[in-house]
Amino acid sequence: MLKGYKTEILPTKQQALKIRQTIGTCRYLYNLYLASNFEVYETLGSGFFVTAFTFDKYVNHVVKKEFPWIDDCGAKARKQALCNAEKAFKNYMQGKTNRPRFKKKRQQKVKAYFPKNAKGDWTIWRHKLQVPTIGIVKLKEKGYLPTKAKVRSGTISYKAGRYYVSVLVEVSDNKFEQPHGEGIGIDLGVKELAVMSDGTIKPNINKTSRVKQLNKKLRREQRRLSRKYEMKKKRGEKTATYSANIEKQVVKIQRLYQTLTNIRVDYENKIIAAIMKRKPSYIVLEDLNVRGMMKNRHLSRAIAAQRLFYFRTKLTTKAKQRGIEVRIVDRFYPSSKKCSSCERIKSDLKLKDRIYRCECGLELDRDLNAAINLRNATKYEIA
Ligand SMILES: [Zn+2]
Repeated sequence: MLKGYKTEILPTKQQALKIRQTIGTCRYLYNLYLASNFEVYETLGSGFFVTAFTFDKYVNHVVKKEFPWIDDCGAKARKQALCNAEKAFKNYMQGKTNRPRFKKKRQQKVKAYFPKNAKGDWTIWRHKLQVPTIGIVKLKEKGYLPTKAKVRSGTISYKAGRYYVSVLVEVSDNKFEQPHGEGIGIDLGVKELAVMSDGTIKPNINKTSRVKQLNKKLRREQRRLSRKYEMKKKRGEKTATYSANIEKQVVKIQRLYQTLTNIRVDYENKIIAAIMKRKPSYIVLEDLNVRGMMKNRHLSRAIAAQRLFYFRTKLTTKAKQRGIEVRIVDRFYPSSKKCSSCERIKSDLKLKDRIYRCECGLELDRDLNAAINLRNATKYEIA
């Protein structure tokens, strides 16, 4: 079984420079590949495109002569960047995705791929690891990466002034105990993150004071950044997009984002671990219309929807690894409107009705009622 790990590294100044160079070159080649193929696509029409393989040759024989710095980046890393671009472009041509975007420097979403090319590459110790072409790099969190594990591939990314390594390692299949606990229905939502059929409620973490405080701080820093832009504009500087001061502010904002994400991810992991501990024989979830939710213009809702999507994916993956059946119920199943006791359907249930009251005498929290209905669902697909 393959397992992915991501953790922060502490490169020396020299190593950091080399990493940024590699990432920069990969980003440049990625963009160059896309730009060239858009041109081909627009002049010759669909069906025509240059493969990463051919483009790599072109880079080696033509582009490199003009930009010798390209050679500072390992050949395999360059090739991988082109392969990624090819994949994005192919998906676009086949109508699977939107037009791929150019990677911007600020977003730093390009990862650099470091294939093995020397003995000992990608060896992991408790407190350090050997990265191809970069050398031995210190790990921030000791003992997180599995030592002695066989690394299949590794990438390094840079975000908000920090460096991260992601590795894909081969781990022996864990023998999980056969799940035997009671099935759990889980109602996921924006108000509460999760309400479970056994009555457990996991609130939306965005409503805690710590997250609220951080969000407030984030808005303040964002205002500060836009003021800085305004000032530059007023002074008549046309290239108002960059200055050391602005860059500093951007990093500050990215760090705040990262802190918020870390808090959320940590919270989700804890909930998932608690669910797994109960070894339910099955878990029932509703098929979320995340795409529809994302269209909502309120940013906070969009973020919440996106986190729900991550949460659901992670929960499903973990459950499957443990042999727990994940049942997905159609989103038209009236999980909210049905009485979990007598199965009557209350078609006039309003969104503001937080308590479900039925003629049969049942009075229950609306989401709990829904969670129980999910647990009892008989029509579902298996994820
Ligand atoms: Zn009833």
